[in-house]
Parts: sequence; structure tokens; C-alpha cells
Amino acid sequence: MVTKINLGKDPTLDFLGNVLDSRINNPYSLPEFYRRIKDDLILAYEKYHVVQGNPEKITNLNFRNYVDHDDEVKLRHDTLINLYSTKSDKFITSILNGLRHDHQLIFCPYCGEEVIPSTLDHYLPKEKYPEYSICLDNLVPACTKCQGKDAKGEKVLNLNNSRIFFHPYYENIEEFLILKILPPYDSPSFTLDLKYIKDKDLYEILASHVVELNIYDRFLRFAKSQHINLLKLSKKNRESGSVMNDKIQIYLEEKEIKSKNVWSAIYYRSVLSNSELLDYLNTGALPDFI
Ligand SMILES: [Zn+2]
Repeated sequence: MVTKINLGKDPTLDFLGNVLDSRINNPYSLPEFYRRIKDDLILAYEKYHVVQGNPEKITNLNFRNYVDHDDEVKLRHDTLINLYSTKSDKFITSILNGLRHDHQLIFCPYCGEEVIPSTLDHYLPKEKYPEYSICLDNLVPACTKCQGKDAKGEKVLNLNNSRIFFHPYYENIEEFLILKILPPYDSPSFTLDLKYIKDKDLYEILASHVVELNIYDRFLRFAKSQHINLLKLSKKNRESGSVMNDKIQIYLEEKEIKSKNVWSAIYYRSVLSNSELLDYLNTGALPDFI
């Protein structure tokens, strides 16, 4: 689940200021457009930080204010979107690549899967919010499964105009996924529940975050293979004559150092809270296939 991560080391306003100035000073880079939008864009980035990117509190800039003709509005939208994917501006690409690859994360802050996030997610999608295409606070390292079109994609608000996702730069939602492992333990079934929280709004975001990122299905597949691994460990453990409980506690502590939300931590917490399963791991009949 959502794990709060630190914002990158480059302050977003300094970065924006550099990008704007380089364009305003270049006669071939739409200097007039950038001159006209500069102050509002800076204010928008400041506001983004204050409201923590919450789409319920952010309205788009009116691009008509920065161009002379209606038909330029869409073009300038695209101009800002393209700032993100520019290849010719070495300054922008080096900052974005740093954000993309130098985060040292070993799990996805959106979902908790233990993969190295290889992409940047626009928390507010750049197609809908071109103003924030290079807002560093809006660029969150994410796994490709969370960022994909059938997961987070372009989604922002639900039909009630409430936001759908938590923002990993600003929020930390710990231990909200509860796994139950049900017998028979050689081939168990699993249930995954959200911990009840009193704050209705928070609970609704939590529910939509988990559903839209397909976390239920993804996690349950993970739990299945993790369980087979645990049975193999149990077999090995019996050969060395030690008790599983202590080992699982150590595995859990190792995983929780990354985050309490990484999937293996959720799995091991579930195992440790299940005395029947622990008994099985120590003395039960293990399946032949392991
Ligand atoms: Zn993810």
C-alpha cells in the first residue's frame, strides 16, 4: 500500500524557473507564451505543494489567457506536455532521469510490490494537467503495473469528484491490507481485506486506490507463490531442527525495514498472527510437490 517517499533533491520551483528562463531567452522556443504564463505557472506549482497535489483543490490554468488566438490553446497544451518527453533539452532530461533512476527504492510506493520502480507516474496525468507535466512534486517513481492504462492511467477523480488515489510524496497509509491464510495449509486459500478506518473519505480513497491498481488480484497471486516458498523453507528448517516462528520474525523485520507495506511484510505478518499455521509449518504434513 501507499508508502510515503521523499521528494527528489531538486526543488521543483528552481527547476521550473530554469526551464522557463531558458525558453524566454530563446527566440525559437515560444518566448512570448512562456513570458505570459510564467507567473501563473509558478503560483500553480506553489499551490500544488500546499494542497499536496489534491485534484479536488486544483483547477487548470486557462491557457486562453496566454495566447492570442483560440486555435493556439491546444497547441500550447501540447507544448507543455512535450516538455516532459523532450530529448533535445539536456537539462530537463538529466533531472528527470535522476528522478526516474536514482531514487534507490526497491518497492513501488503506490502498491508495495517489491520491484524497482522504473517509470515516473504523473500523479495528475499530463494529458489532463499539462501545466504539471514537469512539476517534480507530481512525478512519482512507480512500477509499470500501477502506472499502466488499465491501472492508474489517466484516472484522477471519481463521479463524486473525490480523488481516487493517495499521493506517495505526501501520504503514508500503513498496514491497511490484512491477509488471512485459510486451511488446508498445504494448499491454502487467501482473503485480503482493508482494515476498517473511521474516516469515511479516507476509507473510500483507500478502497479505490486498491481496486483501481488491481492490488487484490496482484497480491493474491503473489501470496500464492510466497506460500509455496514458505513450505519449502519449512521443509529445509525441519532438517536443521530449528523452529519456524523465530525465523519468520526475522524475515518480517528485514522486510519491514523497507516498508511495513511491502507485500512480503504483509504476508509474514499474517503468518505470524496465525498460530495454527505456525504449528503446521513446524510439525504438519508437508505436500509431496515441494
Ligand atoms: Zn506499483
